[in-house]
Amino acid sequence: MPRPTVMSRRHLLRAAAALAASGVAPGGFAAASQGAGALPARGAFVIRNAYVMTMDEAGDIANADVHVANGVIVAVGQNLRAPGAAAIDGQAMIVLPGLVETHWHMWNTLLRSMSGDKPDFGYFRSTAMLGQKFSADDMYQGTRLACAEAINNGITHVHDWCHNIRDPEYADADIKALRESGLRARFSYGAAQGMPNTKGIDLADLTRLHDNWAKLSPDGLLTLGLAWRGQGGNNPATAIPPDIYIAEIGAARKLGLPISVHASGSRPAIGQIDAIAKAGLLGKDMQLIHANKASADEIKAVADAGASISISPYTELRIGFGLPQTTKFLEAKIPVGLSVDTVELSGNADMFGIMKVTQNAENGIAETEFTLPARRVLALATSEGARSMGIGGQTGSLKAGKRADLIMVNTRGINLGVFGDPAHMLVTAAEPANVDMVVIDGRILKRNGKLTAMNTQAIVQAAAAANVALRKRANWW
Ligand SMILES: [Zn+2]
Repeated sequence: MPRPTVMSRRHLLRAAAALAASGVAPGGFAAASQGAGALPARGAFVIRNAYVMTMDEAGDIANADVHVANGVIVAVGQNLRAPGAAAIDGQAMIVLPGLVETHWHMWNTLLRSMSGDKPDFGYFRSTAMLGQKFSADDMYQGTRLACAEAINNGITHVHDWCHNIRDPEYADADIKALRESGLRARFSYGAAQGMPNTKGIDLADLTRLHDNWAKLSPDGLLTLGLAWRGQGGNNPATAIPPDIYIAEIGAARKLGLPISVHASGSRPAIGQIDAIAKAGLLGKDMQLIHANKASADEIKAVADAGASISISPYTELRIGFGLPQTTKFLEAKIPVGLSVDTVELSGNADMFGIMKVTQNAENGIAETEFTLPARRVLALATSEGARSMGIGGQTGSLKAGKRADLIMVNTRGINLGVFGDPAHMLVTAAEPANVDMVVIDGRILKRNGKLTAMNTQAIVQAAAAANVALRKRANWW
């Protein structure tokens, strides 16, 4: 079967290996071309005879083709003419938009599953204690591992909520990992772990990134946002002084950057959204995270403001934030996205599992089998997730003219095997191992179940070594 990347893959793997061997010091602006060099070219290909879920007005099309060229979806339909495009066999495959992740502390993927069972080793304490010992290279290692896992799992967009920027080079190292991966991403600039609430984030550094963004993301795959601490901050004992949180949000809005803020947690959660609204700061450019404890009035305030919500049921359940309120948000017509949040708590970044727990939690709360249909959940992970991130016009569905972010799921896996309702299969049965192909902005980054542009062995080994060194440095168990 002819494939567009066969000739170049060996070369790409060599390039990736050479890049890994060249060292992983945070490169800053100079490293931009180095990372981009390791990515495959955007070719022209056509997937033939697949079951295509457009997640758009066209609905599902059986025995359909998807034609991609130069990073764009050229056409979706049956028996497409695609002269010159390499053919990819889509039989027994479901092709759908790439999964859109909407809030993930990617740096702490280096601390996978390290939230302990006792208060001394709980999520917030572990993150703060170990986070303060992170080097810039640890940021790179954690985020690069997260990027590899994302692509492997069929995630084509991530929202990298970076809340351990201890120095400008930490932000550079994190962005470098995103840029090299080929993912579509929003990088949201946040405070450092352990930073006192009386100190604001480095607004000059945020401005530096904004002003240099074209160099940091030459192909436009990355965007910049603010990971805002809100009014509560990291320390539950004290609030952030208004002059600091207003300066932070004001700087982001002056630069035209979207804002994301946690609105729930182990801290007193009720009234957080209300406080943001009362301060006149709630806006269409804002994403609220979790909101498990949002009151009916707060949900209405979010809807009226045109803001979005990101939920992460696995971490919310694991840490004890309570049950999600997905149905209530959807009834209020709030754009909702699904998120990984942190693999320190969830263990992995399996968006299929996140879809499944999202459906199951809502039906469990409502005590009916029929509250949240699988197809609705699939929309949260694709088209609506993209809309919640403000990129719905660009990606999130398969339609001519949109950027080519798509995945192909092999239904011949032993955990699938029969072809029933495709939305039900994806939400209840599919797992990352079934993801045969991942395309981001027209680049084939996973094919035949293997990553094409990342040396996974080198990435895993470097992350494992960084984790051991970090724990030693921090005198951590
Ligand atoms: Zn979070």
